[in-house]
Amino acid sequence: MSDVAKNLKETLGRIEKSATKWKQDPDQVSLVAVSKKQPVDRVVAALEAGHRLFGENRVQEAGQKWPDLKARFNDVKVHLIGPLQTNKAKEAVALFDVIETVDRPKLARILAKEMKEVGRHLPVFVQVNIGEEEQKAGVSPADADSFIRECTEDHGLNVIGLMCIPPAGEQAAPYFALLGKIAKRNNLQHLSMGMSSDYEIAVQFGATSVRVGTGIFGDRDGTEKTQA
Ligand SMILES: *Cc1c(COP(=O)(O)O)cnc(C)c1O
Repeated sequence: MSDVAKNLKETLGRIEKSATKWKQDPDQVSLVAVSKKQPVDRVVAALEAGHRLFGENRVQEAGQKWPDLKARFNDVKVHLIGPLQTNKAKEAVALFDVIETVDRPKLARILAKEMKEVGRHLPVFVQVNIGEEEQKAGVSPADADSFIRECTEDHGLNVIGLMCIPPAGEQAAPYFALLGKIAKRNNLQHLSMGMSSDYEIAVQFGATSVRVGTGIFGDRDGTEKTQA
């Protein structure tokens, strides 16, 4: 078995264990393997091990990698988990299966327009800047309810959940709990939260989707360990 296959198995095992321990349904948690900046042979190893769900944070990089891989492997789904510029919305709608980073009115409006034009109504997540950090994308927790309403009612976007990246170097648990609370009061089913360092905690707090990169694929060429 390749290292990637072993890591995938281990990660899935840990998700299941955490879900069972905290009385969450393990079948409701999916593993998004974050393949950004990874050599393509590692991504192929994951595909050959049967994994089909991936995350990328850049439109351009995903565009170079995934059309070929999707032609080689069936039923692959790729989520956009990084910031999206409105001038790349059209390309993103064509490339991705889910967009997790809807974070501002202008992007919501343009995404809705592009989806309508090509008849491709992708599920989306609203990204919440859960720790209200200056440098991070996402709507503030206080603005989340009205922004979600704007996305669904004004633009007709298919918002299925919320996504967040808690502040680095702090306990993630309270932030995960807060995201869950915002999702619940807005009747949203899905929570994309948890990365290599904290996905088991995210599962404890009801994550339905964890985004694990280095924990599956190893370091990204030593250039980047986790998100900034
Ligand atoms: C890179 C990235 C991840 C994966 O991070 P790891 O620490 O490698 O697991 C998850 N979510 C987002 C938004 C990312 O940009």
